[in-house]
Parts: sequence; structure tokens; C-alpha cells
Amino acid sequence: MPSDHTNDRRTFAIISHPDAGKTTLTEKLLLFGGAIHLAGEVKARGAARRARSDWMKIEQQRGISVTSSVMTFEREGITFNLLDTPGHEDFSEDTYRTLTAVDSAVMVIDVAKGIESQTRKLFEVCRLRNVPIITFVNKVDREGREVFDILDEVANLLALDVTPMTWPVGMGGRFEGIYDLATKRLLLPEGNSREFQGKVIQTSGLDDPQLDEILSADTLAKLREDVELAGVGYPEFDPVAYRNGDLTPVYFGSALKEFGVDSLIEALASFAPPPRAQPAEPAPVEPTHDEVTGFVFKVQANMDPNHRDRIAFMRLCSGTFKRGMKLTPSGHGKPIAIHSPILFFARERELADEAYPGDIIGIPNHGTLRVGDTLSERADVRFTGLPNFAPEILRRVQLKDPTKTKQLRKALDDMAEEGVTQVFYPEIGSNWIIGVVGQLQLEVLLSRLDAEYKVAAGLEPAPFETARWVSAENPKDLEEFIALNRGAMAKDRDGNPVFLAKSAWEVGYIADRYSKVKFAATRER
Ligand code: GDP
Repeated sequence: MPSDHTNDRRTFAIISHPDAGKTTLTEKLLLFGGAIHLAGEVKARGAARRARSDWMKIEQQRGISVTSSVMTFEREGITFNLLDTPGHEDFSEDTYRTLTAVDSAVMVIDVAKGIESQTRKLFEVCRLRNVPIITFVNKVDREGREVFDILDEVANLLALDVTPMTWPVGMGGRFEGIYDLATKRLLLPEGNSREFQGKVIQTSGLDDPQLDEILSADTLAKLREDVELAGVGYPEFDPVAYRNGDLTPVYFGSALKEFGVDSLIEALASFAPPPRAQPAEPAPVEPTHDEVTGFVFKVQANMDPNHRDRIAFMRLCSGTFKRGMKLTPSGHGKPIAIHSPILFFARERELADEAYPGDIIGIPNHGTLRVGDTLSERADVRFTGLPNFAPEILRRVQLKDPTKTKQLRKALDDMAEEGVTQVFYPEIGSNWIIGVVGQLQLEVLLSRLDAEYKVAAGLEPAPFETARWVSAENPKDLEEFIALNRGAMAKDRDGNPVFLAKSAWEVGYIADRYSKVKFAATRER
């Protein structure tokens, strides 16, 4: 009997603003989950060692770093797949799109800073797909804002219900631990480093006289008062509201001092959804569907220009994937045998020859696989809803050698199809415009144009700042809008009409004036 793995996967991402502590938390999650040992483990069991070196070899040969894109760890029978959402200068459309391949997210915020810009953008993408969110308020070992202040900011800025699940006992220099509101357990710091080393006191509640012995009087008084207020001010945790993306449970902790990491893993295991049905045509695909299906949410190009191969990251949506299996990509019909997939696995597993819904498979290929492609055994489904996101940086492309127009167009189309950059062909004028979500993509574009397509090009500022896909229920309204705004109109790679705006403010202004036209910041591929 094949065992059913549809309930034991938790595929998630961490969303945060740079510096909030994502890397630190990731390390601690892997450590608690036992996977990080893998990195330094010399005497791994034979099979595991072979499999690990399999992918190391692929990385070395191809100059591609894939290990950090997907991190897997196991705990108490649950397999966690943590997908990296690159931030900082690597911020790109991939960062957004990774969120379409997860079933839930952990939002990390800095207790001193609250919700910051990048967190908010990533949150909006989660909301598009009703991805449920667990909040982790980090760095309570440092001075931070009032707990109520943070909770209310999450509730108000993100329009979510919030339920505090734990409560910090003091902060910064007066940090005395974390109180778990449900289990009534108190987690205490130890030693000079004031880290969490497993010291837990079971209390009967905040009136428990033990607490008077352990905590300082004023901290305890404030804790009692705060928790009483919180009980009145915030709703009880409702798992259904959480899974619908309407409520976020909030955990306080310190990734650095290892406070709250365990509770977070427990929360993911008990509340976060296992793989869900995925939107597809002709009908949504349930994870219990027999046939193997999945979609490509990211294609990682080789950094080494001598090798043109790529790794396509596929999220498995249904069926049991086996090494060597033949799958057919949507769009171009020919089945491909997947002999050397990169399977990400935790330490305890034997050589991973199988993968289950929620798992990610890396598929080496020479450019056949594109972002948004569906792969399936019988080629009778197509996943929908993998969006393009409105670019946040637009540049005009300057061709240095005018005889290379054709090559440039091919290159821009290719890269748009891969999902690296977007390209817009203005209705008026011949200056093509490219759009990206993060700055680094501009450099990637130029170096790939040069190395792979032998096209020397430069970029100059465009008179536009953002773009929106336009549509209207009545085609006449759209035609009229396009006719009146031709100077700001362009077509994307697939010929869809796009309005180029000078500023976000202009988008709002124009949208108000043309109420029958829809301005979309995302487009389904
Ligand atoms: P990322 O940019 O979100 O990946 O953040 P990092 O994990 O790299 O953390 C940014 C900085 O904050 C580093 O100097 C970390 O050591 C520090 N940091 C992360 N978590 C904590 C925490 O819980 N407490 C304190 N005091 N510092 C932290």
C-alpha cells in the first residue's frame, strides 16, 4: 500500500524586510529540524551522501546554487519545505512568484520596526492567493515597541485579525522570558548569553505564585495587566479564519537567542495547511489526484555563460513523482524523461527517489521549461493563476548596433518568457522598455544579452515608473481608453495592452477618470 503523504507536508516561505532576522530564523529552524547537520556531516549514511553529492555535482558543473532555494527539514513525521524568497538586491519577480508555490507563510517582523515596506509588498502577494500567515515578532531580546502597538499595526496595516499566542515578558535589558498563552508555560533565559536552553516552567496561569519567585515584581505586574487586556481586545485563535487568510496568530521570540523557534515549528505543524487543491483548467487539482502534476514557478539560469542550461523549479501538486518519470510540459506537447531531478530532502531520509505533493523538484534543462509551465503525466491539465507582477523599475533599451534589432527582440522575448524581465513594446516610438521588480535583474539582463545573445545594449531611464495591465468588460471602453492615451500605451510579450504610468499617483488618478477600465498590477500567465 502506498502511504498517503498529502497531510505530512508543510510547504512555506518566510516573508520579511531585510534585517528582520529571516536568515537567523531559517538557520534555527533547520537546526531544530535537524537538517543543518547535513552541511557539516562528514559521515552521512551512504545513500544520503550519494544523493547529496549528486546535487553538489550538478551545482559545481553548472555553477548554479540551488541548495538554498529549497530547504527541507523533518520533525515528528512532518516534512517542512521552506522556499527561499530572496530579498536585498536579489529581490525580483521570482521572490513574488515563489509565494505562489507555497501553502503558507511566516511573516517575520522586527519588534522595534514593525511592518516595513518589503514585508508589506510580499504580504499583498500572499493575500492575492489567500496564503495563510503566521506572524513571528523577532528580536524581543532587544528594546522594542509596545506589544499592543505591534499587534495593532499588523491588524490595521494589513487588515487582518490578530491573535497573540505568546507574550514577551519584558524586552531588551529587562527581557525575562516568553509566556505561552495557551499552554501557560513560561520559557526562561539562562546563563550569561540569556539564551533559551530548554528551561520551561509549567504554571497554572498568571496567578500562579511560582511566578512571584521567578519574575521581577513590576515585570510580572505588567505581564498580568497586559495579558488580561489582550484577552479582551483580541479574538481567540480560529484555525478556519487563519487558513482563509483572515487571521494571523502572532508569536514573539528571538531567533538569535532561540526563543519561540520551537513554538513556530509546532504552529506550522499543527495549524499550517498541508497541500491544497491548486487552481487549474479544466478543474482545480486536488493533491489526492493520482496523476503526477506540477508547475514551474522559477527558472534559475546558469551564472556561467559557457553553460546554457537552467534549473526549473517545479512544485508537485499531485501524485507520487519517481525519478526517471516522463512528464509532458504544457504548451509544447513532447514528453520529457526526468532522469536527474534535484530532490531536496532531510537528513533522515534515504536517497530520495520519490517526491509527494508540496515537494519541490529541480529539473535541469536547456531552456525548454518556462515559468508558468504545467508538467503532467497525461497533459490534460494546466495550472492557472501564476501571475506576472507589475514591474517597479522601467528602463528604455538602447541598442548599440542597430543591425541587431532582431536578436534583441528575440532575447527580450526569451527572457520575458523565462520570467527574468518583462518587455513592453510602446505603441508609439521604437524604444522598447523593459521592466523588473528588483535592480539586480537589470544587470543580469545586460550581461546575458552580451554573453548569450551577443547583443551590446545599454539602459537609460524611461519616462515611466510603473505599468498596469488594462482591460474592460466592454471592448469599446478599452479601445476608447487606448485611443486617448496612446502615448502611454504598450503591448507586453503576449500582445496584452499595458498602460505605462509616470507614477503610482498617476495610476490612481487615471483609474478614477476611467472607471470602466480595470488596471491590474498582476497578470495571470
Ligand atoms: P535578514 O536580513 O532578515 O536575513 O536578517 P539576519 O538574520 O541576517 O539578521 C539581521 C541582523 O539582526 C543580524 O545582525 C542578526 O544577528 C540580528 N538578529 C537576528 N535575529 C535577532 C534577534 O532575535 N535578536 C537580536 N538581538 N538580533 C537578531
